[in-house]
Amino acid sequence: MRAVAGLFALLLAACAAGEAPAQPEAPVAVEHPVEAAGPANPPPTTLSLRCAGAFTQGGVALCRTLPGASVALDGATVGVADADGWVVVGFTREHAAAAEVSASANGGTATARFDIAPREFDIQRVNGLPQQTVTPTDPDVLARIRREAALKQEGFRSTANIEGFLDGFVLPIEGGTVTGRWGNQRILNGTPSTPHFGYDIAAPVGTPVHAPASGVVTLAEPDMHYEGGLVFIDHGQGLITMYLHMSRLDVHVGDTVEQGQVIGAVGARGRATGPHLCWRMKLRNTQQLDPSVAIDGLARARAELLAQN
Ligand SMILES: [Zn+2]
Repeated sequence: MRAVAGLFALLLAACAAGEAPAQPEAPVAVEHPVEAAGPANPPPTTLSLRCAGAFTQGGVALCRTLPGASVALDGATVGVADADGWVVVGFTREHAAAAEVSASANGGTATARFDIAPREFDIQRVNGLPQQTVTPTDPDVLARIRREAALKQEGFRSTANIEGFLDGFVLPIEGGTVTGRWGNQRILNGTPSTPHFGYDIAAPVGTPVHAPASGVVTLAEPDMHYEGGLVFIDHGQGLITMYLHMSRLDVHVGDTVEQGQVIGAVGARGRATGPHLCWRMKLRNTQQLDPSVAIDGLARARAELLAQN
C-alpha cells in the first residue's frame, strides 16, 4: 500500500505543469565523447561549414566553420563562430521541415541544408496549481511578476565567451521520473496556456541538482513567483540552461561551475504541484529548446565534428 501511495505521489508531481504521461519513463542516459578539442583539432583555416546534432523541432546543432564567421539560420543572422570556429544553432518547436545554415566571411558564404524532423506534442491538463500562478490578478503579485521578468531578461542576455557547450551534457539529476515532456500544449487549472518549454523530472525534495556542463551562473534567485528557486547557467554562445522550483541554491550570480557540480536541490516552489526539477534551455534569448534532445545532440555533434578533422 505504501509503495502504491508513493508512486501516486510521484505521478502527481508535475511541473509548472504536469499531468504525468500514462507510462512514466526514466530519463534518457547519454554516452559522452572523450576526445578533446585541442591542437589536434584546429579550426578550419578557409571558409567551410559542417554541422551535426539533433535536427528536430526543439533540437540543437553544433557547427564548425572559420573562426569569426557570421552564421545565419534560414537567412537570419544568429551568431558568430567563436575563436575555435564553433557555433550553436537551434530549431524552434514550430520550425519548418527544412533548415538552411550559412556561414559568411571575407565576402564568401558556405551553406548547408538539413531536414528538420517534425514532432507531435501532447495536450497536458494540470489542475491544483495555485490560481495566482495561472491567472494572477493581485496587484502586488503582478508587480512582482514584472520585477522578476526583468531579472530573468538580464540572466538570458548573458553571452559568456566560453565553450561549456562542448562538454557533452549530463542529466542534472540522478534517477527520478519524467512527468512532463517538452513542448506539450497545456491547460492549467482549466485555462489554455502556452506550450510547456521544460522537461520535468519528479524527484524527492532535496535531491541534488548538478550542472550538466560547465558554465557561468547568470541568475540565482531563491524565491521567484512562478519558478521558486531558480538558477540560469550560460554555457557559451548564449546557450542558457534553467533549473526551476529548487528548494535550495548552492551558487551565486557570477560563479563558474564545472560539469557535475551541485548547484542546489530539487523542490516544489512556485507553479508546481509536487517536487520535481523543471529543466529548460534557451538559445540567445530567442529560441526555447528541448534539453532532453539537446544533451544527446550536442554530444553527438561534438564527437562527429572532431572525428572529421
Ligand atoms: Zn516544467
